[in-house]
Amino acid sequence: MLTPQQTPRQRIMMLLTGTWLSSHQLAQLLGIPERQVEEHLPHIVKTLARDDSRTFVLEPSHCQDCTYTFRDRTKLTRPSRCPRCKSEAITSPRYGIRDGRAS
Ligand SMILES: [Zn+2]
Repeated sequence: MLTPQQTPRQRIMMLLTGTWLSSHQLAQLLGIPERQVEEHLPHIVKTLARDDSRTFVLEPSHCQDCTYTFRDRTKLTRPSRCPRCKSEAITSPRYGIRDGRAS
């Protein structure tokens, strides 16, 4: 349940548990601007890096024109352009939180 007592970060972590959501979807669910979601995410990654019971997972962006996948990207936000074909049809990355340590 989302409750008013939770901080935005706690709410984001709860929403991401067991599912995949983009920053756009999180912004809609929380009723805050997408840019604010993107500001919270690095802090959530840090928090979960110290948490042995949960792991932050990132489903990388990919190019819709040539299927290039941004696997090595460390930034959390959507890349603007494909390095292979220069297309700007890039999917948004999605985020999730799963139980257990990173493997
Ligand atoms: Zn491409």
